[in-house]
Amino acid sequence: KVMVGTKVDENHVNWVMAYNMLTGIRFTVSRTNAKLDRELTDADFDAKHKFSFDITGNELTPSAKYDFKFKDYAPWVFRHLRATFRLDPADYLISLTSKYILSELGSPGKSGSFFYFSRDYKYIIKTIHHAEHKLLRKILRDYYSHIQQNPNTLISQFYGLHRVKIPYGRKIHFVVMNNLFPPHRDIHQTFDLKGSTVGRDFKEERLEKNPRATLKDLNWLRRHNHLEFGPMKKKLFIEQMQRDVALLQRLKIMDYSLLVGVHDLTRGNDERLRDKTLQIFQPGADRDTDAAAKSLARTPSKLENAQKARELRQLIKRERPVPMDQSTFRMPEEAVEGKENSIFYADDGGFGATHQNGDPGEEIYYLGIIDCLTHYGFVKRLEHFWKGLTESKTQISPIPPEGYGDRFVKFISSITMPREEAEAEAEAEARA
Ligand code: ATP
Ligand code: CA
Ligand code: CA
Repeated sequence: KVMVGTKVDENHVNWVMAYNMLTGIRFTVSRTNAKLDRELTDADFDAKHKFSFDITGNELTPSAKYDFKFKDYAPWVFRHLRATFRLDPADYLISLTSKYILSELGSPGKSGSFFYFSRDYKYIIKTIHHAEHKLLRKILRDYYSHIQQNPNTLISQFYGLHRVKIPYGRKIHFVVMNNLFPPHRDIHQTFDLKGSTVGRDFKEERLEKNPRATLKDLNWLRRHNHLEFGPMKKKLFIEQMQRDVALLQRLKIMDYSLLVGVHDLTRGNDERLRDKTLQIFQPGADRDTDAAAKSLARTPSKLENAQKARELRQLIKRERPVPMDQSTFRMPEEAVEGKENSIFYADDGGFGATHQNGDPGEEIYYLGIIDCLTHYGFVKRLEHFWKGLTESKTQISPIPPEGYGDRFVKFISSITMPREEAEAEAEAEARA
């Protein structure tokens, strides 16, 4: 959990944006959840609602610290999606809005998107490009029915789609989604796998400086890694991946990856790292040790957290807006509730390795298909053309969606096997 990023507080350049995002989420989510549940209609998928926030407040919106506009997309669809993913409405609000503390991962990809973690590390806010925003709105019906038919999907779980704009600023689109990695376990290695080999190498020298960097396909192959599943788990995993990829192919989406975080049970958690994480997530705890100790002492107990959640639930039931300030909540010590409903997140928030005979292995994998909002459009076709001139056409990463998906499934299937099989394979390779 070294990649927890920097805390976004009042002194952070993106503080106003983060504050506005969270204020908007809090307002729109509690507004929708305060109403009696109902069936979705066709119009819900295209719905959008605009709100103006300012320092005085008006009959529709409460007062806020800054002036900004907030747009909420398909709120009923996302309410139903959150329910399908078994998120508790009160917990969702608590995670995303308590004290407005997020941590920023900066911009890890080439795309320029920013990533923010909720302070309990359960959710990620990702800023997305206008084209990605348009795509998500376009595919929302297909995504929704896929989720209904595939509750164990590996594809990113989207919980909300919103837009913020400050006066004279540009429009910023963002999604809220699941953090695949758990708050309570160290991830010892991270891989972003596409099934392509061209440009899919993280320079091993750079690992020394940044031991928790996200590695790629060639690094995986160089390590002779595999996803160690016995026949049952392998079947479950591959079949779900095939169904997910079939959807992405049908929607002409590409450039997605399988994100794999590996927790090595024999190494366990490094307590020093955990302390650091806690400091980042405890407001004020990084000022000095004394303050840290005090702040930890003030951290509410689990019981108090449960009490707060109950109060919030009551407010939502009574159709009251949720008050703007919430006190602090501690990092969960167990796997995130609700996540266990998917088989792939059922082993302590992840999917545990197994041996050939089904005995548990030494690793827990935290995995999912991420970055699923790139349409094979104009830009990619151009890129394909130029890259195709110099590199082999099947190995470059931007190939059309059909081929991209087939190659992805083939690669991931080929690295999924029990240890015994992998060892036999490595031996055969060495002999050849
Ligand atoms: P690019 O388009 O250049 O690949 P991007 O900005 O679209 O980048 P992503 O590919 O979505 O970014 O993610 C970049 C990195 O952020 C991932 O490799 C992973 O380390 C982390 N990340 C993204 N989504 C998640 C998630 N749901 N859970 C945990 N980590 C994530
Ligand atoms: Ca990516
Ligand atoms: Ca991307």
